[in-house]
Amino acid sequence: MPTITVQDIIDHLAHIAPPQYQESYDNTGLLVGHAKQEVRGVLCCLDTTEAVVDEAIEHNCNLIVSHHPIIFKGLKRLTPTHYVARTVIKAIKHDIAIYAIHTNLDNVLQQGVNQRIAQRLGLINCRILAPKQVMKVATFHFQAPPSDSLREALTAQADVHVYADGLHWQVRYPSGSENHVRTLMRTHNGQIWSQQTDALPATQVGSGLVGELPEPMRESDFLDLLKGKMHTGCIRHTTLLGRPVQRIALCGGAGGFLLSHAIAVGAQFFITADYKYHEFFDADNQIVIADIGHYESEQFTIALLVENISQKFSNFAVRSTELCTNPINYWC
Ligand SMILES: [Zn+2]
Repeated sequence: MPTITVQDIIDHLAHIAPPQYQESYDNTGLLVGHAKQEVRGVLCCLDTTEAVVDEAIEHNCNLIVSHHPIIFKGLKRLTPTHYVARTVIKAIKHDIAIYAIHTNLDNVLQQGVNQRIAQRLGLINCRILAPKQVMKVATFHFQAPPSDSLREALTAQADVHVYADGLHWQVRYPSGSENHVRTLMRTHNGQIWSQQTDALPATQVGSGLVGELPEPMRESDFLDLLKGKMHTGCIRHTTLLGRPVQRIALCGGAGGFLLSHAIAVGAQFFITADYKYHEFFDADNQIVIADIGHYESEQFTIALLVENISQKFSNFAVRSTELCTNPINYWC
């Protein structure tokens, strides 16, 4: 059997959810450990807690693949006074690597967090709720120093950025500007030297998801379905509007920023988590907001991670954590 390294797993997961699709505030990627380390077993989880590291040790898993990054805002010291540092110290002591696949997995349609929720609810005709403009990066090489007017012409386009280094220019541009950028470069004797193109088309990348139930349902019946399928103890929701439900917008985790998109696509329900009191008023009798809980909305991501890894690798164990890492308890 060939040796599988942490890097092999990273490469495979990056194919499903390219790291460049993570949000700017995120910290996706290899957070602890060495990419060249041989993988003996993988443990998948939503949150890397100390107990999850203990579980990895117990089951001889030396790679933890976690949805949420345990190191998020940066670490100033590695002393055991805080749970994040204790978790990292324990992982390092036991040669356990930690890889996070967070908003990049939220932002892909295929094999992503939101598709899994949609599958559980039986939604059809699923598409991205707020598609992202896919950016491309190309490196151009010039035979002779290009003119200043070229840079001005390029950057006059929205979202086009030029990083110039003598005869080498790196240009970052939205995929929609591809033809314009190439034409300008050609007329100025620029040759494309290397190009990193994004792997996925724009319609496959972005925030949230919208899809339809196969048949319209009553609102209360849909809430029952939602509660059962998502294993949520309690749903916090806005006023029911007394109309049939068929189009559903959703976003695993904290998706409140997508409410206007959910209304714009004509969804009757918007399912997400982490809603605050005043934000519920924004439903404004146009949609029903249903907050099912952050952990509840993403818990099936753990099995998704196991499947995403197992589809490629079969010569070591890939496990789901058996621990519930939800920090929130309900006294019902
Ligand atoms: Zn989350």
